Amino acid sequence: MRKKIVAGNWKMNTTVPEGIELAKAVAEKSAQLPANVGLVVAPPFTHLAAVAEAIKGSRVELSAQNCADHEKGAYTGEVSVAMLKSVCCQWTILGHSERRQYYGETDGKLVEKVKLALSAGLGVILCVGENLDEREAGKHFDVVAGQIKNVLYNFSAEDMKSIVVAYEPVWAIGTGKTATAEQAEEIHACIRSVLADKFGREVAEDTTILYGGSCKPSNARELFAQPDIDGGLIGGAALKADDFIQIALSF
Ligand code: PEP
Repeated sequence: MRKKIVAGNWKMNTTVPEGIELAKAVAEKSAQLPANVGLVVAPPFTHLAAVAEAIKGSRVELSAQNCADHEKGAYTGEVSVAMLKSVCCQWTILGHSERRQYYGETDGKLVEKVKLALSAGLGVILCVGENLDEREAGKHFDVVAGQIKNVLYNFSAEDMKSIVVAYEPVWAIGTGKTATAEQAEEIHACIRSVLADKFGREVAEDTTILYGGSCKPSNARELFAQPDIDGGLIGGAALKADDFIQIALSF
């Protein structure tokens, strides 16, 4: 059975002391969760070592929000997958819409990043999603299917064991506007069928697909009740330990 996961993307929020406090609160409260729900926090790079220490011994796993598209060398300001591993990171988010939109992250670059992350033994949370214009033009299925094909069709069924997909409609991120459970479910089912076309039904059924976009305690239950929604990638609501845990209790 595929794993249920709730992952918190802290983005560029919290100082290191605030991040340690938040991580400790999440770790402490995580004991209430059922065993089949995985919990991941993704603080900024500067926080990773301290947060790793703060969550040590708990069930909370650590993720980066991005990684470099090169192994090492003269890439000022970048952080490599080996660096992430060295601070006990288990995951990295890749292809978040804010990276695609503001930092020119392309599907081609993502292929390189996913390769590096997997070769370092990191799990990948790959974000896909359409913007408002694409949705209004009725292109959302094609856009998301295209992103999945452009990136994940370069990998193997074995690689898919370390990859989680996060569907995040760009128009729902940080806007307070959530996709309805039906809108989210139909795209999740589409993603699963695009994965099945390449990797077979069994691999597609085993792949965890998260929803992201203004997910909060008040709407998580309805979203997570959908057959193809296996959890959430949470932005704003991940900055409050109580809300984050409440979301993870919504299965
Ligand atoms: C995100 O950025 O991944 C996200 C889902 O943000 P929010 O929950 O704030 O919409």
